Amino acid sequence: MIKNIPTADELLLVSLRLYFKAWGDLAGIITEWAEYGQWASEAQEEDEAVDVQAGWQKYIAAAQSDLQSIFALIQQSQEIGLKARICDISPYLLLKRTDIKPSDGENGVWDFTDFPTLDASELVRVHNMFCSTTLSKDFQTKYEEIRRGRNKISHLGIYRQNIEPLAIIDILQLNYSELYPGRRWMEDRLHFAALGKWAGFSFDSDFNERTGLYTELWHLIPQLTESQFKWLMGHDRHEERFICHECGHDAGLGDTDPYASDVPTAYAVADDRVRCVICDKEYPMQRAGPCPVKDCKCEWQSALEGFKGLCMKCGWAPEEWQESGDRKMPPGF
Ligand SMILES: [Zn+2]
Ligand SMILES: [Zn+2]
Repeated sequence: MIKNIPTADELLLVSLRLYFKAWGDLAGIITEWAEYGQWASEAQEEDEAVDVQAGWQKYIAAAQSDLQSIFALIQQSQEIGLKARICDISPYLLLKRTDIKPSDGENGVWDFTDFPTLDASELVRVHNMFCSTTLSKDFQTKYEEIRRGRNKISHLGIYRQNIEPLAIIDILQLNYSELYPGRRWMEDRLHFAALGKWAGFSFDSDFNERTGLYTELWHLIPQLTESQFKWLMGHDRHEERFICHECGHDAGLGDTDPYASDVPTAYAVADDRVRCVICDKEYPMQRAGPCPVKDCKCEWQSALEGFKGLCMKCGWAPEEWQESGDRKMPPGF
């Protein structure tokens, strides 16, 4: 008999963990630049000061080895993601050979993890042969490219192509829809962000995985292409966005950047309701007079218990705004 046979769910979990590790590392590169890039570009000695665009190029050139590690993580995530789908049909399809020694010869026991499994280059073919869906041509081409690139990175440590962060987002977008259909990205992002080294500990702090997601989206969204935006937010960029007061509150926003008004995550779904792309819940809103906050003028206020009367765009309650002496600072919750 064979022991330690993996399940499809187990492999899927590993694949998603790697996927979101790659995502988190990539978002970190973009976010750090958004926070310090302009300052760093201008703060050089007089003759070394560069404009922000040149600064970004310099930064990305120096980040290539980090980007290569992300590339390798993505390849590993793809490989295990494909294995999860094949394993769902039968784990034995993953075995490349069976001529190995038993782990316990006396009792005739083999350990599944001792068997060599299919090469990465075989997985697409086997997947398409046994699974009910076929991987898209686009995915297959990208998968091959990434597999070859990853081989160069891990066997020689030399990869001469320049890796662009936005191109990696395209790859991660494609991977998610091909390998994990039927899942909700935002929910997974929160879940896997919470599964780090400190999972299982609780801190008396305002920072949680939702705070991290807001900070990430705040910096990422302006960089995304139109199609990347649509994939992530589920709507076109020009569609009107509102605050999700519930998520903003849960993320502990309000004392510093980003404020909930910096990252509106809800969209109108009916005349007086919005749905948030992070928590995927619907919330009521009510029409009110134009918001008095400078440049806001939004006519909608939250009608949700606990947030009633708060503007759906800037987050201020009109009377609090008047009392605050028309401070321009965004509101706390
Ligand atoms: Zn929400
Ligand atoms: Zn307002």
